[in-house]
Amino acid sequence: MWLGVISVLPEMFDAVSKDGVFSRALAAGHLSLNCFNPRDYTRDKHRTVDDRPYGGGPGMVMMVAPLLAALLDAKAQAPQRTRVVFMSPQGRRFDQQNAIASKGDEGIILICGRYEGIDERFISAYVDEEWSIGDYVLSGGELPAMVVMDAIARHLPGTLGNQQSVIDESHLDGTLDYPQYTRPEKVGTESVPEELMSGDHNRTKRFRRSQALKRTLERRPDLLTGRVFDPLDRQLLTACAQQLGPHSVEKDGEKKQDY
Ligand code: SAM
Repeated sequence: MWLGVISVLPEMFDAVSKDGVFSRALAAGHLSLNCFNPRDYTRDKHRTVDDRPYGGGPGMVMMVAPLLAALLDAKAQAPQRTRVVFMSPQGRRFDQQNAIASKGDEGIILICGRYEGIDERFISAYVDEEWSIGDYVLSGGELPAMVVMDAIARHLPGTLGNQQSVIDESHLDGTLDYPQYTRPEKVGTESVPEELMSGDHNRTKRFRRSQALKRTLERRPDLLTGRVFDPLDRQLLTACAQQLGPHSVEKDGEKKQDY
């Protein structure tokens, strides 16, 4: 996958390209990271990319011309079918399903805003989609772009040593992951659950599924609402709900048990 980033702080991307899973994916050629700094496309000696907002108000706004020049350069190098995405707190919430769907893209260009944001005319003319990483405001689009890039890279074939990792993870099938344990067998008075020590594959699998459902019911009942489960999951969920008691899945005084 060809990843392009338009940012006035391209050095921030060293954080993901020097270490970890993302950097290994780069080194192995599963993806490429290409940064374009709008300041490199300015002509004044201060390399200005922003100006005051029309209508007044605090802060500065990124201008169309440097962004457009950077975008055109990026597009000239990108594969033909490349999406242009503006990272924005006003965008559609990026989630695991989007990360999985994006793995099929040939290219994505992520535009990172700064200051008060970017001139609306650039967004309406050149941006295909706006993605948010959550309902809070950060100082720039670089951290959100890195979050999105890392989430997508995990799903590219060959990126993770064991591709089973992404299959078991939280949110893949709308439930949270089961709890994990490693050596030693005993920490203080806490032992590893017996089901994981039994060596019985089916028992382990059933235990983990039941823990995943229990966790989701306790922490994120909203993920279960309205979903259809197979008979085994229904049985496990009913047992979990009984263990947790009637108040565990209540939200805003309303009982959420229509799974
Ligand atoms: N004035 C803008 C607003 O209220 O919508 C916020 C501007 S923010 C300070 C600067 C830039 O950070 C944005 O243009 C965007 O690129 C990025 N950004 C901030 N929060 C974000 C979020 N939750 N998701 C994605 N990008 C975000």
